[in-house]
Amino acid sequence: MPVAKPTAIAKSITLELKDLILGKKVEIDIDCDAACLQCLGVGKVFVATEPCSSCGGTGMFTRNEPGIQMRMTCAQCQGSGKGQNPCEPCSGNGTRKVKQPLKINIPPGFPLGSQLRQQIDPGLVLLVNVDTVLPPDTEIYEEGRVVRTIRLTYPQLILGTTITTPLLEGGTTNIKIPPRIDLGQLIRLKGKGLVKSPMGSIKDRTDLFLLIELMSVDLTTTTPTLNNEFIDKETVLLEQLDALYNSVITQPSST
Ligand SMILES: [Zn+2]
Ligand SMILES: [Zn+2]
Repeated sequence: MPVAKPTAIAKSITLELKDLILGKKVEIDIDCDAACLQCLGVGKVFVATEPCSSCGGTGMFTRNEPGIQMRMTCAQCQGSGKGQNPCEPCSGNGTRKVKQPLKINIPPGFPLGSQLRQQIDPGLVLLVNVDTVLPPDTEIYEEGRVVRTIRLTYPQLILGTTITTPLLEGGTTNIKIPPRIDLGQLIRLKGKGLVKSPMGSIKDRTDLFLLIELMSVDLTTTTPTLNNEFIDKETVLLEQLDALYNSVITQPSST
């Protein structure tokens, strides 16, 4: 018998970034053929009220040879003598498509955009394309640097604040933003990025950078009354602030 080439089953799964960093056991369903339980793989069901069309209901064939009489079981009804119909659930195939759960193991430090290859048995290979959902406002750059945009209000930029930001491996961390931080400044969280080498140690990771940007206040989500109140108060404060700035910036022209 010729050796059959292994069949490959391709599947795609989508995982969170933390699952690639920490690793995860995932259960997926694969489609496979299984014997039909209704007909036990025979592909037909017996009908007691009708005789077998092949043997006429006797379940046997008799062959007469000179000096010997041979009795053989009817292959079609397997000796039962009953008539048969094709099995409905399997359409007479004897097999049905079933989903079989299969456990796969995503090792820690699994590289982004990679394919997992798992040999199920000598004739079957499972190829799993692993897609990743990145946390909001997070991008990945060359050499695995991870940059997350943090939007602060103008007062927060000037006065400083403490923010809570999610970690790539799950959980959150509190970060103190110093007063008078510049727009576009990067705050480095050392070793909080991606695992450096494929399937490497989660202790050896790239850095996560927080990129400071200005938050624009969305007034469309509030009521018109609140909007007007906000704009009026903000205008008064900004005019005061403008005057304060001008008192510092404008240099006296004489003396
Ligand atoms: Zn069946
Ligand atoms: Zn028969």
